[in-house]
Amino acid sequence: MPLLSVQDLSVAFATDDGIVDVVDRVGLELDKGETLGLVGESGCGKSVTALALMGLLPKPSGRITNGKIVLGGHDLLDISPQARRSVRGRRISMIFQEPMTALNPVQRVGNQLMESIRLHRPEANKEEGHAECVKILEQVGIPEPNQRLTEYPHQLSGGMRQRVMIAMALIHVPDILIADEPTTALDVTIQAQILELIADLQESNGMSVIFITHDLAVIAEIADRVCVMYAGRVVEESGARDIFASPMHPYTRGLLNSIPKLEGTPKTQLATIPGLVPSFQNMPSGCRFRNRCTYAESLCADEVPKFRKQGPTHSVACHYWHRQSELSA
Ligand code: SF4
Repeated sequence: MPLLSVQDLSVAFATDDGIVDVVDRVGLELDKGETLGLVGESGCGKSVTALALMGLLPKPSGRITNGKIVLGGHDLLDISPQARRSVRGRRISMIFQEPMTALNPVQRVGNQLMESIRLHRPEANKEEGHAECVKILEQVGIPEPNQRLTEYPHQLSGGMRQRVMIAMALIHVPDILIADEPTTALDVTIQAQILELIADLQESNGMSVIFITHDLAVIAEIADRVCVMYAGRVVEESGARDIFASPMHPYTRGLLNSIPKLEGTPKTQLATIPGLVPSFQNMPSGCRFRNRCTYAESLCADEVPKFRKQGPTHSVACHYWHRQSELSA
């Protein structure tokens, strides 16, 4: 049994133009110790899926309209709000894209970490709590942790703030860490350090990771399995090696073609996917990728392609996945 099983998850938002379905029957599975890469362009529903898993959809506009989120045999959508709060942080934690939106700017780092300890381990006394804070800051590579605990977020560099947020996410050694574009705002050296740090902590804690990014180069480095989302739906899922060697969905192919290659001719223009992700208010019928797809036929407008297994560990939602791989062979 997988550690986490997300089944047919749908999320809708109330907007000025009415209700829009932002996530449409998404299914995901995550095993213990596994890293799942969740990829797709901005606006594909990756972050909304993550917020739904955390129980942190913005209220009152966002709500789950269908599905199950089963963690360790229990559907998180069936438990009390109090039990849900206790799952958050203890069993599932999240590193957000932008540390300043997740950290409280008017509270010292130490107070923010202590608050999290008080919430989940009220029996810990002040000394024990302080020792835990120092230990986790050391673990995430923050020098002079005692000093840092007395500082406010704005007194720290971008890389340090990100590490503090990782410390907050990891302080209770969660079973699952959701990392939403955790390195986008950082320079490349810090990015590499943060990725290494997550991998180290994952190895030492046996934690599972859902890594959300639009950067396939990062996914190639860290993911065991990859799930590609487009316009609120999962369109392809497979082992990481498989998806890079033999992508089945035209969208995944487009994403892969847009990665710069070392062996490519310098200064040649990168391939791009024509067009834009459709807005949620104006979704095309049938396959949501059809307005950008060079293989589209009339069936693509008439029928939503089913997400089907096409190999032992490879599934895709495309009417013509075999045809387009023959055409491009
Ligand atoms: Fe393209 Fe049709 Fe496949 Fe959608 S279902 S990706 S439009 S070929």
